[in-house]
Order: sequence, then structure tokens, then C-alpha cells
Amino acid sequence: MGSAPMTDRQVLRRLRGIPASDGAGVRLTRIIGQPELPELDPFLLLDEFRSDQPGDYIAGFPDHPHRGFETVTYLLAGRMRHGDNKGHAGLLSPGSVQWMTAGRGIVHSEMPEQEDGLLWGFQLWVNLPARSKMTAPRYQEIAPAEIPETTPARGVRARLIAGTLSGIHAPIEAAATEPLYFDLQLEPNAEAKVPIAAGHAAFAYVYDGTADVAGNEIKRGELAQLGAGGAVRLRGRNAGARLLLIAGKPLQEPVARYGPFVMNSEAELYQAFQDYQAGRL
Ligand code: MN
Repeated sequence: MGSAPMTDRQVLRRLRGIPASDGAGVRLTRIIGQPELPELDPFLLLDEFRSDQPGDYIAGFPDHPHRGFETVTYLLAGRMRHGDNKGHAGLLSPGSVQWMTAGRGIVHSEMPEQEDGLLWGFQLWVNLPARSKMTAPRYQEIAPAEIPETTPARGVRARLIAGTLSGIHAPIEAAATEPLYFDLQLEPNAEAKVPIAAGHAAFAYVYDGTADVAGNEIKRGELAQLGAGGAVRLRGRNAGARLLLIAGKPLQEPVARYGPFVMNSEAELYQAFQDYQAGRL
């Protein structure tokens, strides 16, 4: 018996984020990690923050802990300064990515480095498997110029944050979930077929304009969860589109989460709180 040809991925479901507030009162849109979509294994959370009203973001995300997963911050506009309790500090500028493996734990702050103007970006949480949850913290910080760009089809531009497209490898290493994270810009009527590893969970999030995702019209602010298959067909509608295409290998492990900690069991969560309170992160 020969293997069946790989089908293109279809849209399983589509949904919008909900307004939320996090940190010290940052207003954002929570797309993954909300009641309609608590997780999309291995992804635990996707937030979009986009505002030119300082009151929406100025309070930032003061010191808070993480353990057991990775946080990925991708900025489109504005600047964010981060610093942690291990002495690591840095500044995120437009087009840059910080892929932080919290591992066994850090306490950090993420604060806007601006008093006005547009702040626009995303934070994605990527789970770690049990064997990696207590790994040493690690940062992968990619400056805008270090993110490879490619044109997989006429009128389609891709910035490669994680994964491989057209033989070009993105700089991020994240072995456990083998993520794909592309920022795609589609001109009006431009189309591309983008390969995604079979068996990986995948979604597209349209953050500007309108796109056809596997033939479904997906508007700005909508996430399209993709079904099984080997690739997804994307096309820009009349005004074009910008979207995140994200995929990763599901971990299929129990998830015990509370606030900034994501472990496999309640006992491990309790331990995370104890360690945080005792200053052991
Ligand atoms: Mn954080």
C-alpha cells in the first residue's frame, strides 16, 4: 500500500480574541488562552497588544515570575525594555524577537520604553515538555536585521522567526516543539502555498487586512486553526494582508497552569509557588 498524498490543510475553526488586561494594567487582546481556546497544544497563550494610547500600556509588566515554558515577544512598533533577576537585560525594537526559555524560572519585567506613540506586538507562550521544564533559563534575542526574509511567491514576503521556508532557516532554536513562526505579508491577490510539518498544530492569525486562508476569508483579528495536512494555501484579499503563521509539535502531556507557571501537575505548580516565594527562581 502506498502512502496517501498529503492534503492541504483546511480551516478547522476560526475565532476572535477577547479584550483582556495583564501585567500592571496593559490592555491587550487575548487570542489563545481565553475560554473559547484555552490552549492549542503546544501553544498556551497568544496576546496582541496594539495601542497608541499610553494609558493602555504605560504601566507595563513589572517584576513577575515564569516557570515551565517559553515566552516569545515579537514587536511590530514601539520599544520594550526587559530585565531579569539574573542580570540579563535588553531592549526590543520594532521587528525584533525575544524568545525566552523560562525553564526552571526567572523573575523579569517587560516595560514599554516610550511615553507615547504606537506600541504593537505579540506575545506567544510555547509549552515545554516535562523533560525540559526545569532547564536553565535561556534567551534568544534576534535583532530585526538578523531575521531572514524571503519571497516564496510573487507579492508574498515572509520574515522567518522560527522554522524553514524555501531552504532558508530561521535563527531560533527550540528543539522540543520544532516551531514554525512566520510573519507573512501578502499583496492584493498574491498567493502562496506554505509547507507546514505534518502532525504539527498550526494556526494563522491575521493582524492586518484580510486573507484567504485555505479558501476562507479571515479578517483582521481572527485566528484560523488549521487541520491536518502538509501545507496551507494563503492569499491576500483586495487590500492585502499581514498575518502570523505559527505551528509546533504538540506535546500531548498534562497541563497544570496557574498565572505565570505552567507545569504537568498540581504538585509541581505548588512547588513553583513555594520556590518563587522563597526566592529560589
Ligand atoms: Mn513575562
